[in-house]
Amino acid sequence: MNVQWNQQAREVLKGASQSNDYFNTHTFKEGSFPIKIPLEYANLIDKDNPNDPLLRQVQPQTSTCQSGYTLAPLNDEDNSPIDGLIHKYPNRVLLIASQVCAIHCQYCFRQNFDYSQHDALSNWTNIERYIANDNNINEVILSGGDPLSLNDQKLAGLVNSIESIKHIDTLRIHSRSAVVMPSRITSELVKLLNTTRLRVIMVFHVNHENELSAQFAKAIKQFQGVTLLNQSVLLKGVNDHVSCLKNLSLALHKIGILPYYLHMLDKVSGAENYFIDDATAINLHQQLQTCLSGYLVPKLVRDSGKKSKTWLL
Ligand code: SF4
Repeated sequence: MNVQWNQQAREVLKGASQSNDYFNTHTFKEGSFPIKIPLEYANLIDKDNPNDPLLRQVQPQTSTCQSGYTLAPLNDEDNSPIDGLIHKYPNRVLLIASQVCAIHCQYCFRQNFDYSQHDALSNWTNIERYIANDNNINEVILSGGDPLSLNDQKLAGLVNSIESIKHIDTLRIHSRSAVVMPSRITSELVKLLNTTRLRVIMVFHVNHENELSAQFAKAIKQFQGVTLLNQSVLLKGVNDHVSCLKNLSLALHKIGILPYYLHMLDKVSGAENYFIDDATAINLHQQLQTCLSGYLVPKLVRDSGKKSKTWLL
C-alpha cells in the first residue's frame, strides 16, 4: 500500500507548463506559490470547464494587491513558544509536523510560512518536554504542511511519542492530502489510528463535493472509532452558493463526515480573488440553516490570529 502511495505522491503536475499541457489550456501562469496538483486530484477536474471549482483552487490567481493582505495573515510565529509548536489555547498545542503538502492550494494562509524554522520532528525533544511539563494540555494537533506527508513509519513514531505523555488523551490530525490523494490512507495508517490509546479526530479539508472521490469514501470507511470532521474555506468561484454548500454538507454526511467549520478566507497576498465579504457570508450561512439540519451546518468562523476564533454567527 505504501509503495502505491509513494508512487502516487510522485505523480503530480508541477508548474504552469505541465499544467497547461495536461488541461489543454494556456491559462496557468506561475504565481508566488508554486503550482502542485496531484494527478488523483487533477482527474476530478472537468478539463472542458475553465471555471471548474477544483481547478480554481490550484490555479494561481492574478493578484490585485489590495490593502489588508499580507504574507502571514495569522502571525503563527507570535504564538510559537518553541520551534515547531503553536500554543494558542491552554488545553491544546498544534505541531508543524510536516513541511510538505500533496497539493498547493492557492488561497493557503501558510504559503509563506517559514517551515525551516518550525519543524516539529527536528525539535521533538524540546517539544516533548514542553508538553510533558504542562498538565493543562490534553490534546495534540498535527498540522503542517500536511502531517500525512510524513510516511507511516515517521507518523507512527510521532504518535507513539505523544501516547507516552500520560496527560494527553486526544490526537487531532488536520489533513487535505487524504482527500486529494486518497491512496495516502494506507492500511498501516488505518491500523495506527484505529489502535492508538488516544481518541483520534481527523479533520479533513474539503471545499467542494466534487473533491469527494469514490476512493476517498471507500478508504475512510476503514477507520473505526475515529471521529471524522470537515473544515472548508469559503471561496469565491468555488463554493460561494448555498446549493454548493448544502450539497457539500449532505455529501460529507453520506460518507460519515460531519461539517465542522466554514472558514472565512485568511487574507494572504495573492488570494484576493477568492474573497467573500462578511455580509455575503452571513447571508449564505443563514440560508444554509434553513435548508439543512443543524448538525450539518458548519460554524462560520474567522481566524483572527489571536487566541480564539471569531464566530461570525
Ligand atoms: S493542503 Fe492545507 S496547508 Fe497545504 S497548501 Fe493546501 S491549505 Fe495549505
